[in-house]
Amino acid sequence: MEKWRVIQWTKEFETTRYRKVTSTKRTAWQQFAPYGYAFIFVILLTIMLWIIGPAFTLVNSALLYLLPVLLLAVRFGFGPAAFAAGIGVISFDFFFVPPIFQYTVSDARYLVSFAIFLIVAFLTASLAAKLRQRVTEANEKEEIASALYDLSTQVAATSDLNRVLDSIIRHAKITFGYEAVICLPDQQNLFHVYPRNETIDSPVNPIDPNLVTWVFEHGQTLGLGTKEKKDHDYLYMPIRTDSNVYGVFCFVGGNATQDAEATKRKMSIISALSGLAAVTIARVQLEEEAKTAHLLAESEKLRTALLDSISHELRTPLSTIIGAVGSLIDHNALFSPKEQSELLSTIREGAMRMNRLVSNLLGMVRLESGMLRLHRHATDLSDVIGVALRQVEDSIGQRQIDVFLPTYLPLIAIDDVLIEQVLVNVISNALKYSDDASPIMIQVIVLESELMLHVRDYGIGIAIDECERIFEKFYRGKKTSRIPGTGLGLAICKGILQAHGGSISARPAPDQGTIFSITLPITDDRGEVEVARRGI
Ligand code: ATP
Ligand code: MG
Repeated sequence: MEKWRVIQWTKEFETTRYRKVTSTKRTAWQQFAPYGYAFIFVILLTIMLWIIGPAFTLVNSALLYLLPVLLLAVRFGFGPAAFAAGIGVISFDFFFVPPIFQYTVSDARYLVSFAIFLIVAFLTASLAAKLRQRVTEANEKEEIASALYDLSTQVAATSDLNRVLDSIIRHAKITFGYEAVICLPDQQNLFHVYPRNETIDSPVNPIDPNLVTWVFEHGQTLGLGTKEKKDHDYLYMPIRTDSNVYGVFCFVGGNATQDAEATKRKMSIISALSGLAAVTIARVQLEEEAKTAHLLAESEKLRTALLDSISHELRTPLSTIIGAVGSLIDHNALFSPKEQSELLSTIREGAMRMNRLVSNLLGMVRLESGMLRLHRHATDLSDVIGVALRQVEDSIGQRQIDVFLPTYLPLIAIDDVLIEQVLVNVISNALKYSDDASPIMIQVIVLESELMLHVRDYGIGIAIDECERIFEKFYRGKKTSRIPGTGLGLAICKGILQAHGGSISARPAPDQGTIFSITLPITDDRGEVEVARRGI
């Protein structure tokens, strides 16, 4: 099996701002210029002392030669300062110590003074240079720490692994100047290389798959700058936390002549980067696991809710049907014709209830799987209301149902079977959640581009904060938890109406009960109604 796959470099982080950490590498000019300054400084001092010489004693002049040494040590380090001390002594001897303009000294005691001058100069130069180095190191560390902090805040804000790796690699390159790639294994232990475009077999790609695998398996650093395989082009560092190795960070070696300090500094930056990568990868992976666990728990909860309510909802009408059929079979002769007809009505009501439940379940499946196809016909909404009322007539019993229709009701292009399902659900709710003696009102209003249908009951009503939630799948109102139901009906109504380009909403009625409002567009975009009308 192919061991490597290459992930394309994404351009998403092109706009991220990076702060470059100052490089400690110096050019030849930067290295030698301080010696030039030392030379010029000593010459200028000598000229000045020569001009005003008589005003100074030899001791004062000698002390003044310490000045360039100190300043150069603080500014440029030990080398230029020592150089200034050397040429300072020579100039002092040549121009001021008798015999003048000769390198000989008349008094041997001057030699002791020169030696002391040089010792003092070297000591102060080395102390000042060390101080300077400490300050530079502290500044550098502060810069690195703040660059790493910037990076950590950037990666903390995202949970997309690709973006996180992108960010770390770009920081390594732009902020610290290190070329790097990250190798991460997938579930089949196939390594993915971020972010190069060439394959691992490409001749320009110096990453060694065997070394990557070894580092990943052993969790140890290998390659350039380490004891093992030190002449390799790359440094391979495991991306690891205490308990886990997540992948391998591969850094291009760069300059082989780097001194120990530079290597130490580089290693600490690289360790910090790979530590950050490890923590971030661990976080992203944990987040993903938590998300999956949460989804699993949610779907488990839904499954249990579905099974609970469906088994309950099916069992109730089923046992009613079985009971009624059993009585009819066993004791048929004992029942009067009226009682027989009542038992048959009970059976029909139970069967209708089961039919509604099964239709709702099927509707839910079709909606969720995107398989809901509308078979629109030009339909008279009043017919659909009539059919829906007939479907629930057993539950209506002696109730008063008032239907208000406008004098002119245009035809609308709807899937009559589905809209009937909507009305059956809404009307059965009105019946279910209101008193047996209370009336129900159905009203159709023609608006400019839509039909509006209100179903109003005088029942237990609905809390204002539940008006939206009742359209969620399996949501059941607090007030109605004791009344059997699955919480599916309104979710399906919403789905069906949305597919028609319409809507459904609920609100508490002004005095008592609930009002459900349904809208349906009169014409659809394709003018399907008009076409259908002509066909009638
Ligand atoms: P089923 O899936 O069997 O219809 P259900 O009636 O509980 O069960 P929905 O029709 O989706 O489910 O209704 C969701 C919730 O909305 C109900 O549990 C109820 O709390 C509330 N509700 C719906 N219609 C009314 C109404 N007319 N009056 C008061 N509350 C209502
Ligand atoms: Mg319902």
